[in-house]
Amino acid sequence: MLTDEYVKRVYAQVEKRDGDQPEFLQAVREVFESLEPVVAKHPEYEKAGVLERIVEPERVVKFRVAWTDDEGKVQVNRGYRVQFNSAIGPYKGGLRFHPSVNEGVIKFLGFEQILKNSLTSLPMGGGKGGSDFDPKGKSDAEVMRFCQAFMTELCRHIGQFTDVPAGDINVGGREIGYLFGQYKRIRDEYSGVLTGKGLEFGGSLARTEATGYGLCYYTAEAMRVLRNDSFEGKTVVISGSGNVAIFATEKAQALGAKVVTASDSNGYVYDPNGIQLDVVKDIKLGHRGRIKEYAERVPGSEYHEGCKGVWTVPCDIALPCATQNEIDEESAKALISNGCTVVCEGANMPSTPEAIAVYQSNNVLYGPAKAANAGGVAVSGLEMSQNSYRLSWTFEEVDSKLKSIMENIVANSLEAAKEYGHEGDLMLGANAAGFVKVANAMVAQGVL
Ligand code: NDP
Repeated sequence: MLTDEYVKRVYAQVEKRDGDQPEFLQAVREVFESLEPVVAKHPEYEKAGVLERIVEPERVVKFRVAWTDDEGKVQVNRGYRVQFNSAIGPYKGGLRFHPSVNEGVIKFLGFEQILKNSLTSLPMGGGKGGSDFDPKGKSDAEVMRFCQAFMTELCRHIGQFTDVPAGDINVGGREIGYLFGQYKRIRDEYSGVLTGKGLEFGGSLARTEATGYGLCYYTAEAMRVLRNDSFEGKTVVISGSGNVAIFATEKAQALGAKVVTASDSNGYVYDPNGIQLDVVKDIKLGHRGRIKEYAERVPGSEYHEGCKGVWTVPCDIALPCATQNEIDEESAKALISNGCTVVCEGANMPSTPEAIAVYQSNNVLYGPAKAANAGGVAVSGLEMSQNSYRLSWTFEEVDSKLKSIMENIVANSLEAAKEYGHEGDLMLGANAAGFVKVANAMVAQGVL
């Protein structure tokens, strides 16, 4: 519940203006709940109107994307780029291609990104973009034509010093390649305007692995500090089977855990012997297949229709890595009654507010998305540095920087939580630590 008068007043204004954007309201409310002790201690933020300004994107670009499918039929999608906050660096955040994309979804992701990027300690502002384009079932040529049409408009608004997009759901190496090619063609400029690029054209080693690996580094560090515990011998439930899920599975296994699930938007597989990641990689990265195929190929594993059931599988640690609001109150309760004591978020906002309340009242070690999944954007930041230097670091160099960034996020979150009177609260700590840096920069730069 919000109690601080300033916070309540600004939230009421957001509700009035953006009442039709439920995901955005959810993200703002969660952050505002954490910020009450922060604004109480810093009256200068109210004086400078920081909360009023931070919830309003600096710019929202919305555009038509017209392209031709393989039958020669004209298709029209909507494109978005929300340039949310540039107080501490150029706008930075991924592009999502999914039928569920609308302005409110992109705004929630962009808002989260402001604080996430700040937490990495790298100089990156917050932004996000995407389209309601659905790449499922589309040919490579259709995806290419869509990406080219999308970039034809987007290229007017981005640049290495202005706004540097990356991937997100359904935007991986293939899409980033097409987008980069079109930017270069139109602008006649070879610069680090996108991250997540192929290694041959300016990409960073370990960017592909970064979000999933980073999630495990974060979880391991939080468990070490708060519970004197580790992944060793633990059973882990992971949702999704995309970029984040695959590399979270790989690192959790390397750290000695048994991952027993994988899922997609149709259903989930349970493998009591531990997920065989080479099979998942072959299905998802090899031929963009469905996770159901896993159960057909691996004896002893089971496939279940529907995504929600994955949270009823007994585990010690849950790492949601698919999409927003995938864990509701009922699923959170199921996790806990089956022995789960750690939930760290690879996806953005995968837990509903009611699920978070269940974690909090059951002493679950809860690592919120903006901290736990910041590894992807952190390595994107390192990719930008390498592009500027015009050199490439080794996998080991990038991976070790990633690990120390994730460990610092845990330390900084815990320090902020303590400073604001909520010792051990990784959510409040992440929101407070991320916010203070951005807020101070906004105050220093005047009313913009
Ligand atoms: P991918 O497109 O690689 O994978 C997404 C996975 O989630 C797929 O298995 C997909 O299944 C599943 N999924 C997507 N939408 C839904 C849905 N509505 N219901 C159930 N399952 C769904 O995306 P990423 O792995 O990159 O992203 C996953 C999450 O991680 C997102 O929340 C993203 O914002 C977040 N994230 C990603 C980062 C990155 O670096 N890639 C960085 C930080 C956060 P299907 O194939 O059936 O659609």
